[in-house]
Amino acid sequence: MLQETPMRASRNDAIELSVVIPLYNEEDNVEPLCAALLAALTAQPRGFEIILVNDGSADRTEQKLQQAAAGDARIRVINFRSNKGQTAAMMAGIDYAVGAVIVPMDGDLQNDPRDIVRLLDKLDEGYDLVSGWRRDRQDNFMIRTLPSKIANLVISRVSGVPLHDYGCSLKAYRREVLQGFRLYGEMHRFIPIYAHAQGARVAELPVAHHPRKFGQSKYGLNRTIKVLLDLLVVKFLTKYRTKPIYLFGQAGVGLLALAFLAGLWALYLKFFDNTSFIETPLPLLVSLCTIAGLMCLLMGLLAEVIMRVYYESQSKTDYRVKSVLNPRQEGNPGENPGEESRGD
Ligand code: UDP
Ligand code: MG
Repeated sequence: MLQETPMRASRNDAIELSVVIPLYNEEDNVEPLCAALLAALTAQPRGFEIILVNDGSADRTEQKLQQAAAGDARIRVINFRSNKGQTAAMMAGIDYAVGAVIVPMDGDLQNDPRDIVRLLDKLDEGYDLVSGWRRDRQDNFMIRTLPSKIANLVISRVSGVPLHDYGCSLKAYRREVLQGFRLYGEMHRFIPIYAHAQGARVAELPVAHHPRKFGQSKYGLNRTIKVLLDLLVVKFLTKYRTKPIYLFGQAGVGLLALAFLAGLWALYLKFFDNTSFIETPLPLLVSLCTIAGLMCLLMGLLAEVIMRVYYESQSKTDYRVKSVLNPRQEGNPGENPGEESRGD
């Protein structure tokens, strides 16, 4: 422990940039990747570390990474015990990173390490997050590029954050932007949406994209479906996380109102039009809408309870403070009105 503290302190001081790279079965890419990264990063002034996360590879990736780490102390390697997916690997790297700026990237050299500096320069123009845009994407058009284009249009529309390429791993984040995020599923691509909702300034920059030289892509068409499902979760969480009853309640009230109107109409038909209840589908509509409406309300209440448990058990807050001016001095209770009234 005694040794740990000074080491961490010096590491924190020197490192401004952490590059985080998940790798799964990328044995032939490790060497050229590390060479290209070191060439690009030593040519710029910021202190950096390269965090390579081996996501339980079954090939020789682990050995190659070991060699790379032995060759340069700025290369750190995290080995997973089993394959947990790109997002989990990225999260592990982000958790381990100490840089003020964090740049995730793919480990297959489809992203170009030389673009990192361009992203950082853009960040310095006053942004909190700069998202790479593979404008000239070098992947199979029908099963990768086209579905991704459609997904990006949908995501931009639904989220209100217009980006061309959510799926591009190469992005630059200020550390504050990532604080408090946990990533699940395919969600690393949605960080700009969360960040935007928290008030971060988001920019986009076209970056190079190369065809894969070694190894294979780990994904196919079914990822687009996963991404769209994740979008649903993200939309729900950014908009209704603290008040789920507003969403479920609106649906519930709407359905109950529909049931009520259908009931009125059925009564009208019976008494003024001599049409018996069973001659129309209205009674069915009344019962279905009533049941569905009540279910929605109950589900909303349940979601509220879950949210309360989440926030209150972990003392989490819904707001994020950017800064406080003239904060109270510790140990000077006379200046603190809250302290005075507590004595009453
Ligand atoms: N990757 C990973 N775990 C996985 C799948 C992929 O760490 O389960 C890594 C992979 O090694 C690569 C990055 O995630 O560095 C992007 O994967 P890939 O190149 O297959 O995706 P694509 O570029 O085809 O979208
Ligand atoms: Mg790739």
